[in-house]
Amino acid sequence: MTGTGNWTWLIPGRVTTLIDAGTGLDQHLQALERALAGASLAQVLVTHAHGDHASGAPALAARHPGARFLKMPWPERDSKWPVPWEPLADGMSIASGDETLVAIHTPGHAPDHLCFWHEASRTLFGGDLAVKGTTVVIPSNLSGDLTAYLASLERALALRPARLLPAHGPVIDDPETVLRGYIEHRREREEQILEALRQGDSDPDAMVARLYARVEDALKPMARESVIAHLRKLEREGRAGRRDEAWHIIDG
Ligand SMILES: [Zn+2]
Repeated sequence: MTGTGNWTWLIPGRVTTLIDAGTGLDQHLQALERALAGASLAQVLVTHAHGDHASGAPALAARHPGARFLKMPWPERDSKWPVPWEPLADGMSIASGDETLVAIHTPGHAPDHLCFWHEASRTLFGGDLAVKGTTVVIPSNLSGDLTAYLASLERALALRPARLLPAHGPVIDDPETVLRGYIEHRREREEQILEALRQGDSDPDAMVARLYARVEDALKPMARESVIAHLRKLEREGRAGRRDEAWHIIDG
């Protein structure tokens, strides 16, 4: 699910900062130590509490006892990775390296999702907001929210980033194209789901079978989450409804 793995970003300087904690893999801890070259890790900024970004926090805390751990609170999830989390909020400035980053709340993929913005270089540390070459999962079973995600994409676009450093996949040198592409993709997918409802599909599995016929079985549960995310958005907008668990279109 994480493609070729996940990136963490190390910012050297006065306040040596790591963005995302990884998973505590020994290989990562050793690579970090080499990159630190004797410097001490001052803080870890975590983009969100999904396991591939946060679960390494205890292993990092054990190796770097002076490090602080900061993220936007998501209490039910944060308690899975027991370190003394310090709360971040939208708009907060955080001294990082020799510079300042600003926390940008970008919920949707996860309710606690933050991007970190470096104004001077117009660099956005994007977490899971965008992954080049693929779409981002909005897991309805883990408080994913498509309406919030679309608003977060717009918010990131409004920053006019010159590059986006993601947690998965290659560096994004054309963030505007990628973010606009996501918005367009979701709009097309929404049209397809409305059409499936018009054709009489009433449950997400039928829609997955129709819209994701060529997707491998292993990825179908994620496709299902995406369909449910769309249905909930349409429901909130009064364009789809459900009786028991059977969905129908509301034309108006
Ligand atoms: Zn994630």
